[in-house]
Amino acid sequence: GVPISRGAIRIESLGFGYDPARPVLHGVDVDIPAGSFTGIVGHTGSGKSTLLSLLLRFYTAQQGRITVDGQPLASVPDAAFRDAVGLVPQEPFLLSASVRENIAMGRPGISNEAVEDAARSARAHDFILALPQGYDTKLGEGGARVSTGQKQLLAMARALAGAPRILFLDEATSNVDSETEARIGAALAALHGRVTVIAIAHRLSTIRAADQILVLNHGHLQERGTHEAL
Ligand code: ATP
Ligand code: MG
Repeated sequence: GVPISRGAIRIESLGFGYDPARPVLHGVDVDIPAGSFTGIVGHTGSGKSTLLSLLLRFYTAQQGRITVDGQPLASVPDAAFRDAVGLVPQEPFLLSASVRENIAMGRPGISNEAVEDAARSARAHDFILALPQGYDTKLGEGGARVSTGQKQLLAMARALAGAPRILFLDEATSNVDSETEARIGAALAALHGRVTVIAIAHRLSTIRAADQILVLNHGHLQERGTHEAL
């Protein structure tokens, strides 16, 4: 296995069930060029998060294969995989610590400048500056309250602080105001050409700029196209 250099992903005839007797993904084929932006939509239970879990190596598919830059996903060394991949989870976890520490989480040597650059890229810088103590504002238990959408922006800043080749986002289902939603979409769009972005979306505005949108239906890839075409 070698490090992930480009971040091109191929998904071929992918089939998976948490219980192998009850598959939840069936024969999924997708080509994701390096630096492109892919959106994933579909009704609840259609397999969106499951597909993401397979790409993140949380589970291994029973059928088909996933390759990254031409090599089997499974053969990428763990450290190289961690370096290359960033995740913005559906329900981000905040430490009881400052905004700065939350973004720097897991990267002890990171400079303040790099933290703020990541926050700018995540379109989180403005709202952070509007908090009572800016980047030094305490979050988490007993700390400042941030909305679900703002948590996702902070999680995106945290992920971008690691300069990933591939960024996954599982959009929050509820309570994201339209301004924050637009920020998430703009932040993802701005990564185009540099980072391979794969985003599960509940709202089309998040993935308006996507190169391709995958529509999952009961574990089948029902359609693939651009926002205009769908
Ligand atoms: P949502 O929009 O609600 O997040 P989703 O498209 O992400 O839905 P998945 O979470 O991928 O859907 O679920 C696909 C199917 O797999 C569903 O039938 C779900 O009940 C099942 N499933 C999901 N996670 C697990 C798990 N950890 N163990 C067993 N079954 C699971
Ligand atoms: Mg899901």
